[in-house]
Amino acid sequence: MDDLDLLDELGKGAYGTVRKVRHTKTRVEMAMKEIRLELDDSKLNGIIMELDILHRASAPEIVEFYGAFFYESCVYYCMEFMDAGSLEDLYDGQCSVPEDVLARIVGCTVRGLRFLKDNLQIMHRDVKPTNIVLNRKGEVKLCDFGVSGQLEKSLAKTNIGCQSYMAPERIKGESQNLLGTYTVASDVWSLGLSIVETTMGTYPYPPETYSNVFAQLQAIVHGDPPQIPGDYYSSTARDFVAGCLEKVPAKRSTYKQMLEHPWLLQDKERGPDGVDMQGWIKVAIERREVRREKERSQVKIEGK
Ligand code: ADP
Repeated sequence: MDDLDLLDELGKGAYGTVRKVRHTKTRVEMAMKEIRLELDDSKLNGIIMELDILHRASAPEIVEFYGAFFYESCVYYCMEFMDAGSLEDLYDGQCSVPEDVLARIVGCTVRGLRFLKDNLQIMHRDVKPTNIVLNRKGEVKLCDFGVSGQLEKSLAKTNIGCQSYMAPERIKGESQNLLGTYTVASDVWSLGLSIVETTMGTYPYPPETYSNVFAQLQAIVHGDPPQIPGDYYSSTARDFVAGCLEKVPAKRSTYKQMLEHPWLLQDKERGPDGVDMQGWIKVAIERREVRREKERSQVKIEGK
């Protein structure tokens, strides 16, 4: 911790804060995630050792890992700083992401997930818009994947929140205490839900429309899956998303099927410079600044 200058707060997650920091010796700027865990030192050490596998997780669609340490019952995890923030920070209302940009983001995410599965033999376990991060160069990467079993176990209890991206089979499994009833197909559901959220500009099962969390989870398990707005996005895009949001996991698309789906094939054909990612990200960041400025002045007015 002594080697780091603490800079801005980048965001708050369910378990702690993400901060921008600078490594004083190398001047490298990083994003540092703090995870507060009331565990003894040997358990914390176990987590740090398990996180070490991340040094091998090198792929264009995965945020680079710089290292982790623990300090006063918190695990600190340092990773590549992505200067555009997360997908959740960038979408802005319904249909704010053009279809070619969306397909590029999804293509990167699918390749990232396939890398984790094929090269590290892990599932992500927490696919959602805050864990898909972007930079001004137009790169899209995954962060926050479940690499440490110890860490997962310590966090699991608080995991069913008011905004669940869990697949129906995973919700059913957790409610019956059946661990391990879900597989990599559950990540595919979470990806589908994240795509729908990005196109609608809001989480598809809004908590305020349900009387309680139980009713909301029931809707995920028993209701029809959500869809993307058809009047703006193509039928190819809708078909892709429907494949991710199949209720029965065995019917859900696999990574191979997704990468061979016409929607992602079209994206591949557009080539590296065929989608103006930098242009869209620049506009999305400007819109975010306006939003945040409005929020700040609202807080000031309310405070008076
Ligand atoms: P959650 O617990 O909801 O997954 P996180 O704690 O992972 O949230 O992240 C909270 C926020 O921190 C994100 O929405 C994003 O704005 C920011 N963030 C996370 N990782 C990075 C990163 N590598 N670079 C820049 N910002 C990040």
